[in-house]
Amino acid sequence: MDKIIPLSVPNIKGNEIKYVEKALRDEWVSTAGSFITDFENNIAQYTKAKYAVACQSGTAGIHLSLLALNIKSDDEVIVPTLTFIAAVNPVKYIGASPIFMDCDDSLCLDPKKLRQFCENECTFKEDKLINRHTNKHIKAIIVVHIFGNMANMEEIMDIAYKYNLKVIEDATESLGTFYKEGKYVGKYAGTIGDIGIYSFNGNKIITTGGGGMVVSNNEYLAKKIKYLSTQAKDDETYFIHNEIGYNYRMTNLQAAVGLAQLEKLEEFIKTKEENYNLYNKNNIKLLKFNEKCRVNYWFYSYLTEKRDVLIKELQKMKIQTRPIWKLIHTLSPYKDCQSYKIEKANYYYDKVLNIPCSSNLSSQDVLYVCEKIKMIENS
Ligand SMILES: *Cc1c(COP(=O)(O)O)cnc(C)c1O
Repeated sequence: MDKIIPLSVPNIKGNEIKYVEKALRDEWVSTAGSFITDFENNIAQYTKAKYAVACQSGTAGIHLSLLALNIKSDDEVIVPTLTFIAAVNPVKYIGASPIFMDCDDSLCLDPKKLRQFCENECTFKEDKLINRHTNKHIKAIIVVHIFGNMANMEEIMDIAYKYNLKVIEDATESLGTFYKEGKYVGKYAGTIGDIGIYSFNGNKIITTGGGGMVVSNNEYLAKKIKYLSTQAKDDETYFIHNEIGYNYRMTNLQAAVGLAQLEKLEEFIKTKEENYNLYNKNNIKLLKFNEKCRVNYWFYSYLTEKRDVLIKELQKMKIQTRPIWKLIHTLSPYKDCQSYKIEKANYYYDKVLNIPCSSNLSSQDVLYVCEKIKMIENS
């Protein structure tokens, strides 16, 4: 085979060009225009969130969420160590401190350890969770729904209510994932906590080139996020700004692409599910997703003892794969931060290999990848 089988690439075969052409012909290219509001409305409708605010990236959306929740430089935020670094960097943008938590077998935040940490390492007084090691106020948790999965939100929300913690859901990888049963039946990833964030970066399940969306059922938070994302302008005519704002709004051109991509989302999920099942049927056993959920199957995790050999050998065969992220609490900007009993994350860090999962991956390609993985592993 001569062609490359990429890990995850955009799939642009719908109305993208038509909508972008309209935005260009109408000369509405910047941070105002009807594609932005249409895209916001359609995301809100799809996820059943009350409010949606389009912004420049998922990272910007997380930054805005922390600002809107009034998290300050003296505060602490609980975060996972096993995730993409963009989930954590915004905590540092506002000068606050992250506390790193372990994952469970879903690769997402472990609720058992989260509860243990709150119970044993903190004191709860006057409605505030105080970290005994630093005497600082822990105000929020950032939960990341890894690879299209859903973290155990039933447990996590229970802990958050008990200890008065705000919940930011980094659902950048999980647009389309929702509970099929249980307490949160019908609820989409991103709409269970206080604020949720989706990303439309090039490798996500749908893309706008670059972009993000913040969703919330809280009107105050949604309005605040929009205000902060548009330079905190209080008076349109006289340029009165009463706060420090940001230039974080999505453009109409990006939203035109997003609107067309959203029309294809369910189709993409269907293909990803079929390919996930095809890998499994061919003895490439992939990590299971949350069985209480309809997930979006964004990334496939293959557990192997030969991770680095596979990456190298598959690369030679033009099959792109990648290891899971280096644990954030071990990276230089974060190595002095507090972390709590990190164990499982180390295990998964060593073993997880992400294998091709694009929504335009053909079944022949899947079979080819299966064959090559087995060949390398048996050699
Ligand atoms: C992609 C991603 C982000 C950031 O999204 P951008 O739109 O690229 O800024 C944040 N967190 C996680 C877990 C991601 O995968």
